[in-house]
Amino acid sequence: MKSENSPKEAPRKVLIIGGGFVGLECARRLANDERFEVSLVDRNNHHLFQPLLYQVATASLAAPDIARSLRQILEKARNVTVLMDEIADLSPGERTATGKSGHVYSYDYLVLATGVRTSFFGNLGWEQHTLGLKTLAEAQMIRRTVLSNLEKAELSTDPDERRRLMTVAIVGGGPTGVELAGAFADLLRRSLHTNFRRIDTTKLRVILIEGSERILGAYDEEQSEYAEKRLSHLGVEVRTSTTVSNVSAQCVHLGNGETIDTAAIVWAAGTEASPLAAKLDVPPADRAGRIAPEPDLSLPGHPEIFAGGDVVSIRDGKGNPVPGVAPAAMQMGRHIAKVLKIDADRYTDEARPAFKYYDKGIMAIIGKNAAVVKSGNLRLRAFPAWLAWLFVHVLFLIGFRNKLSVLLGWAFAYLRDTPDTRIIVNSADNEQEAAAQAGESYPDAA
Ligand SMILES: Cc1cc2nc3c(=O)[nH]c(=O)nc-3n(C[C@H](O)[C@H](O)[C@H](O)COP(=O)(O)OP(=O)(O)OC[C@H]3O[C@@H](n4cnc5c(N)ncnc54)[C@H](O)[C@@H]3O)c2cc1C
Repeated sequence: MKSENSPKEAPRKVLIIGGGFVGLECARRLANDERFEVSLVDRNNHHLFQPLLYQVATASLAAPDIARSLRQILEKARNVTVLMDEIADLSPGERTATGKSGHVYSYDYLVLATGVRTSFFGNLGWEQHTLGLKTLAEAQMIRRTVLSNLEKAELSTDPDERRRLMTVAIVGGGPTGVELAGAFADLLRRSLHTNFRRIDTTKLRVILIEGSERILGAYDEEQSEYAEKRLSHLGVEVRTSTTVSNVSAQCVHLGNGETIDTAAIVWAAGTEASPLAAKLDVPPADRAGRIAPEPDLSLPGHPEIFAGGDVVSIRDGKGNPVPGVAPAAMQMGRHIAKVLKIDADRYTDEARPAFKYYDKGIMAIIGKNAAVVKSGNLRLRAFPAWLAWLFVHVLFLIGFRNKLSVLLGWAFAYLRDTPDTRIIVNSADNEQEAAAQAGESYPDAA
């Protein structure tokens, strides 16, 4: 049977849910191909470069530096319509998706690219006491909380309260936790120490809590050891083989009975698939609810539905799990677009090509001037790894922002330890609350 599509027929309706690395790459590959009418729906109006989120959380970059309007990126893609809506429901049988706006989207092909969200392993109450790091809003919340806590500590005269306000607990010793811990240590010790008069910011405790025996479990053992030593050198308290038994308001309770009083708890301990994955007709592949697609990335029994990126669980040619990293997501987005084009080109009952993962490696930065890189047989650490990290991310920023001024501003501030993005928005309430807690009257703004 010949493909139903011919140049004279109506274009195939492709609905892409999620404008992250998979969704955007897929839309770009289908751009201006008249055989497709593409709708890209995202709950946000921007594409976010998550690898630099922790730089926003630690005041080194401003939010617009790592996010870009999806409309702007796709302005020249005439066949792609960008819509800001949160998809709440899927009906695979009817080939429709329903947005929170009430709009019903019909499709010939669906691409599910909604990524993951923070997981609390069923402890739903913990969410309200912790800060996640998946979105721009969350990164800004971490920055606001830590900077506001320092302001409150400067106002406080109670040593215990000051200590609590100057303690940041980070749960999860993967790349996110490690990068965040290193960046906080740098921010406080290198950049802010001359800014306060009453408190000594070098006394800020950054505690990194990891349940397994070592941090950066995806890296080689000696790289994990290096990372731990490096963090300790920066003043971070690294607690490995330490479980969290409970999280309450401003307290982390550890499995060993210890309690850490803290005014900022960052949760970087786990993720789970976007809830939309559960709305498809396929059983989850793992406890995180991710989907196991066919080798071509379509869903079993649904050749018209594709899923890619963090929301799927898939193995590479060697049987190793494909990691949840941006290059893997982009490769999947590209592959899905390729399969759609092949479908439109030829006999539909021919086997579609299988997705092949090209592993570019992984890297994690550990404060300024140090990082670890694992790529094929290559292992780098310390300054050479940091240079490699910088090279990759600077290249990205040039392509992404296309604004040398932003890049130069960041590089200059970074080299001089003077990050510019320390302004707390909406701080008045926080400061008044701090003054009230400290039993002091709040001076008039005038
Ligand atoms: C803090 C952090 C640091 C990281 N560091 C690195 C790194 O250094 N290197 C690296 O390679 N990778 C890194 N990653 C991982 C990388 O960012 C992910 O692998 C990648 O973003 C996955 O792409 P994706 O398209 O699957 O999902 P995402 O990029 O998460 O995109 C999902 C999109 O779907 C949208 N969405 C979700 N639900 C809905 C809905 N119901 N309706 C509409 N839209 C929806 C979201 O708004 C989002 O735009 C990091 C991730 C984080 C969180």
